[in-house]
Amino acid sequence: MRRRGFGFGRKAAIFPLEIKLAHQQLSAGDYAGAALAFESLARHAEEIGGPRAPLFLLQAGKAQIASGNIGAGMQHLRRGLTMLTERHQFTQLYHAERRAVDELQQRGLTNEANELETFLQGSLPAMADLPTQHITTTRPILPTHCPACGGPLRPNEIEWFSPNSAECPFCASPVQAKD
Ligand SMILES: [Zn+2]
Repeated sequence: MRRRGFGFGRKAAIFPLEIKLAHQQLSAGDYAGAALAFESLARHAEEIGGPRAPLFLLQAGKAQIASGNIGAGMQHLRRGLTMLTERHQFTQLYHAERRAVDELQQRGLTNEANELETFLQGSLPAMADLPTQHITTTRPILPTHCPACGGPLRPNEIEWFSPNSAECPFCASPVQAKD
């Protein structure tokens, strides 16, 4: 059952299997392969005007950095984060930025971590304006990964359409909370 995502025209929707393969490559440590796969997904998402391009770019950036292509990875991260800013997805931006900065620091890439923080300093609205209830609210427990595409699910960063069901941000499949 497809609720949406066909777009109108030239390009077909992105299939969860395609996304699943990219996530599998990333978790299997095939970072170069995962980077290519997520870059192609990001292009595809942009072509069909899909809302998921920034997520794929952030994954591509993470994969490039893990495979040692720091410059290319940083470019993807900056672009993905800029898209989130332009779309006013500030909750996602806040979490994605924290995660990217932490990962860079863990890899000893202090300059890059600082660069990203500086880059984003003007982007985030004042902390007081952030929808903090999304950050602190306790949500029901979701599977840690989407059953359809294997993407990581973060309860505070995804769209809930009922108290117990949410939508995978990567493949738009519905995901049920566990009891
Ligand atoms: Zn999914």
